[in-house]
Amino acid sequence: MSRCFNFSAGPSELPLEVLEQVRDELLDFRGTGCSIMEISHRSKAFTEVHNETQQMLRSLLDIPEEYDILFMQGGGHMQFSMVPLNLMAPVSADPSRRGGGCYIVNGTWSRKAAHEAGRLGGISIAAEGDETNVPQQQDLRIPEDASYVYYCDNETVHGIEFNYVPDTGRVPLVADMSSNILTRPFDIRKFGAIWFGAQKNFGIAGLTIAAVRHDLIGRAPENCPVMLDWKSYSSKNSMLNTPPTFAIYIANLVCHWLEKQGGVPEMAKRAAEKSGALYSVIDASDGFYSGKVKPAFRSRMNVTFWLKDESLNDLFVEEAAALGLKNIRGHRSIGGMRASVYNAVPTEGATQLADFMKDFERRHG
Ligand code: PMP
Repeated sequence: MSRCFNFSAGPSELPLEVLEQVRDELLDFRGTGCSIMEISHRSKAFTEVHNETQQMLRSLLDIPEEYDILFMQGGGHMQFSMVPLNLMAPVSADPSRRGGGCYIVNGTWSRKAAHEAGRLGGISIAAEGDETNVPQQQDLRIPEDASYVYYCDNETVHGIEFNYVPDTGRVPLVADMSSNILTRPFDIRKFGAIWFGAQKNFGIAGLTIAAVRHDLIGRAPENCPVMLDWKSYSSKNSMLNTPPTFAIYIANLVCHWLEKQGGVPEMAKRAAEKSGALYSVIDASDGFYSGKVKPAFRSRMNVTFWLKDESLNDLFVEEAAALGLKNIRGHRSIGGMRASVYNAVPTEGATQLADFMKDFERRHG
């Protein structure tokens, strides 16, 4: 068996211990005589996994009881619609007139979220980044009657990460934390809601999680489809219908793995080491490699960079792959390279990639 170091932006690497446990209990899940994929979501064996996953996540992220943790499907794209559907509050006696969402736009995913919300109601833009930076607090324009302020904490495509939590006063703050959840401690009390897909730092595709403050649940309009109303998940402990059982099981194993490793503070330490090793090579390369994101906003998860001589791109990717350093090509919309160093990518993977980059530069620089 030869496992690579996998720098995919998502779905992405899982901890080896998690995969081994999945393999070991695949045919007979804890004495049930079937796999976890073959049992009812209402069975005792599965509900134990479901409830434990919620509790463990609550503890790993330090989420107090006044927030509900919801397990959903539909991915990030469904949350792009669910956030406005659930939070655009009526602004007058006419329930069809709803207060707008206010969006900080600084990359692909916040732009898509704003676009989708715009289909459902009036939105405003608090500030726009130029895809190398994060708009700063003093530049945010937040209308007083905004229903919520939305931003993406880590823009996965460009590799831009917020280095502060916006202060939005009384207006609830909502964050897409899909690509940096569980990688640094944060205070959820500053947020009305956060949400994330599981397929980067919490397991596999098919599970989408939100943590929503109680007072923000139950605001969707009467005619909101049940599957798009956070309340439906909250009132039924995320068992409204058949949940993505296998994805929840994997998330459960990831929770146990995270706990054993030392939790979120340890992940933050490793993220700084891994991304730091790569950014150091870029900065010391005298332009052979360059990044576009301003240093203060560089993502600790998605390290984006370009080779000065782009005709070497294919060779760079091929040579890296031959060493077992895989999936480092940048997003198709912006090109270049992107090494995603999520929680499950070992520090050894990042240092091997950094060594390869130095060696490649020595041979081609
Ligand atoms: N938000 C972020 C930050 C993402 O990285 C992605 C996808 N990689 C999405 C949203 C969209 O998620 P999905 O593909 O699950 O709709």
